[in-house]
Amino acid sequence: MQNQPTSLPFHPLAHRSSRVLAPLSVLEKMRVFSLESVIEDFEASTKEAADVQRETLRRILEENAEAEYLQSLGLAGRTDPESFKACVPLVNHQDLEPLIQRIADGDASPILTGTPITSMSLSSGTTQGRPKLVPFNEELVKSTMQIYRTSYAFRNKEFPTGKGKALQFIYSSKQFRTNGGLTATTATTNVYRSEQFKNTMKDIQSQCCSPDEVIFGSDFHQSLYCHLLSGLIFSDEVQLISSTFAHSIVHAFRTFEKVWEELCADIREGVLSSRITVPAMRDAMSKILKPNPNLADSIHDKCVGLSNWYGVIPQLWPNAKYVYGIMTGSMEPYLKKLRHYAGDLPLMSADYGSSEGWVGANVNPSLAPEFATFAVLPDIAYFEFIPLGEKSEEQMLEQSPSMMHYTELEPVGLTEVEIGKEYEIVVTNFAGLYRYRLGDVVKVAGFHSSTPELRFICRRSLLLTINIDKNTEKDLQLAVEEATKLLAAEKLEVVDFSSHVDISTDPGHYVIFWELNGNAREDVLSSCCDCLDRAFLDAGYVGSRKVRTIGPLELRVVQRGTFQMILDHFLSMGAAVSQFKTPRCIGQSNSKVLQILNSNVTDRYFSSAYD
Ligand code: AMP
Repeated sequence: MQNQPTSLPFHPLAHRSSRVLAPLSVLEKMRVFSLESVIEDFEASTKEAADVQRETLRRILEENAEAEYLQSLGLAGRTDPESFKACVPLVNHQDLEPLIQRIADGDASPILTGTPITSMSLSSGTTQGRPKLVPFNEELVKSTMQIYRTSYAFRNKEFPTGKGKALQFIYSSKQFRTNGGLTATTATTNVYRSEQFKNTMKDIQSQCCSPDEVIFGSDFHQSLYCHLLSGLIFSDEVQLISSTFAHSIVHAFRTFEKVWEELCADIREGVLSSRITVPAMRDAMSKILKPNPNLADSIHDKCVGLSNWYGVIPQLWPNAKYVYGIMTGSMEPYLKKLRHYAGDLPLMSADYGSSEGWVGANVNPSLAPEFATFAVLPDIAYFEFIPLGEKSEEQMLEQSPSMMHYTELEPVGLTEVEIGKEYEIVVTNFAGLYRYRLGDVVKVAGFHSSTPELRFICRRSLLLTINIDKNTEKDLQLAVEEATKLLAAEKLEVVDFSSHVDISTDPGHYVIFWELNGNAREDVLSSCCDCLDRAFLDAGYVGSRKVRTIGPLELRVVQRGTFQMILDHFLSMGAAVSQFKTPRCIGQSNSKVLQILNSNVTDRYFSSAYD
């Protein structure tokens, strides 16, 4: 195999396959990285998924037996799943907040974990409008590396990359100190800062072509410019283009459309644009930037030869094998634009996890992103699955809006899930989260040996609900997709979108915000508005619209650049571009974002779909 590392020394533990009895530590594996052994380990653990899960739970509970939280629940040293479920309640982030706050305030006693937590991750918090703190420790770095290596091993079997670099649009975020002096930054930044990250990137031939000063730069716009410039300087060596979430890649190329001539000028003269003002970034870029008129000419010619930037990625990076990043869930709306930029290059969807911990790896890389699945790694955490079923209408009326979508049943184990059914994931992991509800809905698409392959469906929380209507992020996405078809004939596209429930009117109504890449005719937008209204197929919505207990849907068109302002707003609050997900529904708690949107509205349309 092309990427078999021949120079690495043989390690006697490398082929010890049973992870149940003697788990090979990730550190040991790192020194003996070979694609075959990564796949072997994965196959061994997924074959015995049920046993590996029991063993993983035992290790988690034993390692953290001293933790105050576990002590208080009366497990008394028991580590079997039955006792665990009987003693430990299901929790969400809110339930744990007081304990997490104590850790953040500097209480160094073992609260959630046996070994006290010394740093925190800030999750993107784009849904709630504020980042939330979650415990972070080395175990999360290890599982991140394990996931990266596993999916790479499978990816590389089908799409081998040669020796080279990766154009990675990755950005660290600011680092804070909590009241108690713990460092707090986004999970991705915690990972990029770890030593293991660099080694893994080397092993999986994905070394970033930009200097560290660019990744860790203090200004996102400048970092983005320098990533593009570095990518162009090393264009012959670049083997793949990636980012954590697809949004960052699309954003990078939308920016490229605006700055490509400036980038060419920098390369021609060998002088960095004056827009880069961060000294460390300037120094680092100056070291790799040399006058190269030939390269500048070639980039220039390629760019002017493109039609509306179709296929810009393979044109400029002829040795790139694929584009890689999370493309599922809230990233799906960016796929169309990404495909446009990627031309004939395959798009490969990256793995599934969260700041709280990893869930699964994409081990079927050739599936189109729309069908991507994630094989759960049974040794990174203990997983449970709450089966979800539709509720009857009376049940729905009795519930609070956030819980009314599904009937709740007892969680089942990893190997007990059924193909075709939907579940909410519950995680117990080495970072001190026990029976923690991730809040995501997944569907079991199949099995890899005895571990399920999950398809990401959506966040569990409802986005749009006024009375008995219930629409998720996915429903909103489908409605927007339907309505944007009407824009295609006008050669227009929706740059980004969001929504809001406006109950200041009586009755309340849905508001959809659109940013377009050009001016659309009024009659076209008016039809889009009607189409959006009709595209929410949920029976509660349709019924309510017919009897007018929900008012006509409103489409608000916002100025170009409005969603960039939203991104900047989140960055100013400490979010990282690498983890940014456009908030798809703006609640009252997100008043700043609502204000940004509303103050940039240029046109409003009300649906006449149910008149
Ligand atoms: P964060 O806490 O900021 O890391 O965001 C974690 C959330 O991002 C998860 O709970 C998911 O909702 C979403 N997410 C992460 N990975 C994926 C993926 N591969 N596909 C779809 N959504 C994902």
